[in-house]
Amino acid sequence: MTVDAQALQAFLDRLTADIHARHDWGEVANYIPELAKVDPAQFAVSIALADGRLLHAGASARRFSIQSVSKVFTLACVLGRHGEQIWTRVGREPSGTRFDSILLLEQEKGRPRNPFINAGALVTTDALLTGRAPREALSEVLAFLREAAEEDDIHIDPAVALSEERTGFRNIALANYLKSFDNLQNAPELTLGTYFHQCAIEMTTDQLARAGRIIAQLPGVSPLLTAEKARRLNALMMTCGHYDGSGDFAFRVGLPGKSGVGGGILVIAPGVASIAVWSPGLNLYGNSHMGTYAAEQIAKFTGWSVFG
Ligand code: GLU
Repeated sequence: MTVDAQALQAFLDRLTADIHARHDWGEVANYIPELAKVDPAQFAVSIALADGRLLHAGASARRFSIQSVSKVFTLACVLGRHGEQIWTRVGREPSGTRFDSILLLEQEKGRPRNPFINAGALVTTDALLTGRAPREALSEVLAFLREAAEEDDIHIDPAVALSEERTGFRNIALANYLKSFDNLQNAPELTLGTYFHQCAIEMTTDQLARAGRIIAQLPGVSPLLTAEKARRLNALMMTCGHYDGSGDFAFRVGLPGKSGVGGGILVIAPGVASIAVWSPGLNLYGNSHMGTYAAEQIAKFTGWSVFG
């Protein structure tokens, strides 16, 4: 679907002003002390279009913690490294439970419902780690992101990683529980350390929108992902990308998306655009409140939807 880029840019400027005029930013993720310090009253949006243009508005050059948005890229690396084998260890069904829930793990004998809830992401990160040091696994994710975004200036914020390492008791519990079912190949502390650092990658919406082009399979982007893998990542983002808010996001936005508790959301219009929004205040599901609103408004304005 073609879009008038000039009209879309004017819309993004209006949307940014509209969001700043509102005061319902939501609450920042306060269970990670370093993220609790972030001012919720911030907003950024970037859109990479199929013709190579990058539109943006708001604080699109400000770095934020991508948190769970990283799970999409880790899964992409793991699919490249281990292929379909990963599905013996993690499922592909929406969980309907919170991002950090342990509830279904006992019932399902330690095989997490999907790779985007924390338990499933720990398994994916564990698969990425097996046979090498955490530093090497993290280098692979960073190299993947840098190549996808065509920019080297993408790094890990060590303060955020340390903050989660000190306080991530639920993730520590999940990793140990997975290990008890023999669904962790490495020592829990090594998998956890790698996971916390992967979540602490910081990016701008400009960088994230550019990296997302490979998932949108826009023309001329790096062949890091096959079309089939990109389709599958989109399917998982659509069904599981917003935890127990995935149905609501599909209903309101109609596009695959992956959120993170840092307030970022990567939204994909397959073949058409890659959209990154950021606003650190979260809704009840732990997804960006204003980011979701912005994605909904952009989908409405452009008519982009995977549902026709
Ligand atoms: N690092 C966060 C955690 O494991 C990621 C959660 C998220 O972004 O949704 O709790």
